[in-house]
Amino acid sequence: MKVFSYERATSPAAAAAAAARAKGAKFIAGGTNLLDLMKLEIETPAHLIDLNGLALDRIEPTAQGGLRIGALVRNTDLAAHPQVRRDYGLLSRALLAGASGQLRNKATTAGNLLQRTRCPYFYDPDQPCNKRRPGAGCAAIGGFNRPLAVLGGGDACIATHPSDMAVAMRALDAVVETVQPDGRTRRIPIADFHRLPGDTPHIETALAPAELITAVTLPKPLGGVQLYRKVRDRASYAFALISVAAVVQPDGSGRVALGGVAPKPWRVEAAEAELPRGAKAVAAGLLAGAKPTAQNAFKLTLVERTLGAVLAQAKA
Ligand code: SF4
Repeated sequence: MKVFSYERATSPAAAAAAAARAKGAKFIAGGTNLLDLMKLEIETPAHLIDLNGLALDRIEPTAQGGLRIGALVRNTDLAAHPQVRRDYGLLSRALLAGASGQLRNKATTAGNLLQRTRCPYFYDPDQPCNKRRPGAGCAAIGGFNRPLAVLGGGDACIATHPSDMAVAMRALDAVVETVQPDGRTRRIPIADFHRLPGDTPHIETALAPAELITAVTLPKPLGGVQLYRKVRDRASYAFALISVAAVVQPDGSGRVALGGVAPKPWRVEAAEAELPRGAKAVAAGLLAGAKPTAQNAFKLTLVERTLGAVLAQAKA
């Protein structure tokens, strides 16, 4: 691990200002992804700004009838919160499908959104990777790409986003709140928060340099049946091959988002109009434009069948 300096943040705006001042600075909270990346020298921050002392660990109702989740709320606490379990069951289920109990105890809401891909080549410094080193090439295209994206990728990168929580938040239309080094705040709809790779796969979100996530807000509850189904190679402690987050209303309308298929949580609102016609019609809209490889074309069938199972469960 490379040597780095360290400071404890005193306020969110001060943390953002410190990150703007210090070259090569990174924020750290749970550290469940960052520390692994530092040990492999994939991330080599010169300076760490520790956010753990900030009062960003609360879950509070909003004036609009929704919920404001502080950036430092741990995944375990969010999944177990009574109002989340009652009104946003989709989010609770997605959180509990992710990682292990120990990791969820440490991992934060903001860190979960910002976790890096689990593309195996990203973690191997001996392999070319445009996300790790822009312009180096992509070992996954033409290599082992079974777990990678069938949608939203490109010639530079076909990595998937690994978060379960973010898929549920996409279906719920969450909004990410931030503060910038000059103290200005911003609200970014989750649909616009994660970027597709294009020619710059190393830029993964809409955050500006040194901009800090302070909270995620959820709109007022949607009701309906809320389900999260994750399909993976082993029963626990594994990332999604595909996942389906669904909110289904008694009249058959609803929302669907997918995980494990694209560089960001994948939702196509127009496809949701097809929900009363069944999984095949919805999947056709969600997967329009898919460019699978020979190794991961199975994901297209898996999405349709998993969505069918989720809709049948919602109906039951
Ligand atoms: Fe790197 Fe993306 Fe290619 Fe994986 S898919 S090797 S993360 S550029």
